Amino acid sequence: MKKLSIIGSTGSIGLQALDVVRLHRDIKITALAAHSSVSKLEAQIREFKPDIASLWSEDAALDLKVRVKDTGCKVLYGMEGLIEVASYRAGDIGSVSNGAGIITDDISSGKAENVGISSCNHCSIESSGSYNIESSDDILLSAVVGMIGIEPAIAAIKSGRTLALANKESLVCAGHIIMPLAKQYNVDILPVDSEHSAIFQCLSGEHSNISRIMLTASGGPFRGYTKKQLETVQLSDALKHPNWSMGKKISIDSATMVNKGLEVMEACHLFGVAPDKIDVLIQPSSVVHSMVEFEDGAVMAQLGAADMKLPIQYALYYPYRRYSDINRLDFYKISTISFEKPDMEVFEGLALAYKAACEGGSMPTVFNAANEYAVERFLNNKIRFNDISGIIKEAMRKHKKIINPSLNDIIDIKKEVEDYLENLI
Ligand code: NDP
Ligand code: MG
Repeated sequence: MKKLSIIGSTGSIGLQALDVVRLHRDIKITALAAHSSVSKLEAQIREFKPDIASLWSEDAALDLKVRVKDTGCKVLYGMEGLIEVASYRAGDIGSVSNGAGIITDDISSGKAENVGISSCNHCSIESSGSYNIESSDDILLSAVVGMIGIEPAIAAIKSGRTLALANKESLVCAGHIIMPLAKQYNVDILPVDSEHSAIFQCLSGEHSNISRIMLTASGGPFRGYTKKQLETVQLSDALKHPNWSMGKKISIDSATMVNKGLEVMEACHLFGVAPDKIDVLIQPSSVVHSMVEFEDGAVMAQLGAADMKLPIQYALYYPYRRYSDINRLDFYKISTISFEKPDMEVFEGLALAYKAACEGGSMPTVFNAANEYAVERFLNNKIRFNDISGIIKEAMRKHKKIINPSLNDIIDIKKEVEDYLENLI
């Protein structure tokens, strides 16, 4: 039986992953983590009976601990809690480390032992990472939002768990650390982001000879707007994505097209291609989830309904396909599938993302950290929509690039960017 932990289980991706688990009833949920959604996490603990659960704040975790006392679920908090959830392998219970971050008073000390690291390395596909035909059955789904996902991703890889990755920010900032580490530990990173899942499916068995990757984008709620029109858009408009229902942060990223920029960087790491081999195509109906052109000119595309359960399920059951209850495309009703070129002058965030991707080193971290800061302020009605790209531009202008940033450098850069922007605004 597959075993699954989810960090970000109460969010858009996390909830849809649990829908997939409910549908098939053959995956055991071993650990769950969220930020502060105590009631939602309590309900999930009662339904799925994980061994451990974690919340970000100690107070929320204390509350949860009292509520779920009767279930026997161990409750943790903070980054240590997240890392325990990310690296927890069923059977470890009773040996969860007893340091800070642990709320329970009834668990024995000693670091969790990793059991049964998948050693299957046949049929691996080389990219910047590698994919095994039989991934480890012990999976972490990283569905947290933001750079907070970096350290748990690293912990999951080191514990030998397959990493189903929705959290794009971790690869954007630390892909140069995460991908080689996955290779070293013979761990699969399976994309959950719909475009990357599409590319992954298109590449099946044909990882080499890629001539071009075409990442599709819906264009978001402001497709066709001028820069002037964007000056007056409101938060509520920006949150209304035409095709996808998603968390707030990624909804704003889609409206600015920064999301597509992050996805370009994510694709560079996942598939080992340079940014200049990745084109962004607006495909307004979100029917084509992305395409790959090979050296001979053949193009493979993956099509399907705009439903994240499809790529989530594909990653959870890879390499097998299972029945899914999502809507099917009715091709008799699709009269046209159109493509447009994105306007990078209007959606400057996308142009800046390409710049950051080409510069490499620490620049993608600066791009991402500035965007996280700006989106948070926009969500709190502190800045206007067009300020988001202005803030990213200024943070990138100010930064002196580090060529090969370490994890500590990445964490420091995030703080430096935030401090700089806080003083500036
Ligand atoms: P949501 O905002 O809906 O959910 C975020 C989840 O992360 C929540 O469960 C939240 O908990 C949890 N969380 C946030 N901060 C922390 C923390 N410090 N510690 C523990 N848990 C935390 O986001 P989405 O599901 O929309 O997106 C998640 C990731 O997946 C993002 O990186 C996004 O870019 C990516 N993605 C999302 C898609 C989508 O359709 N939604 C599509 C493709 C990629 P709480 O509920 O307590 O706040
Ligand atoms: Mg996407």
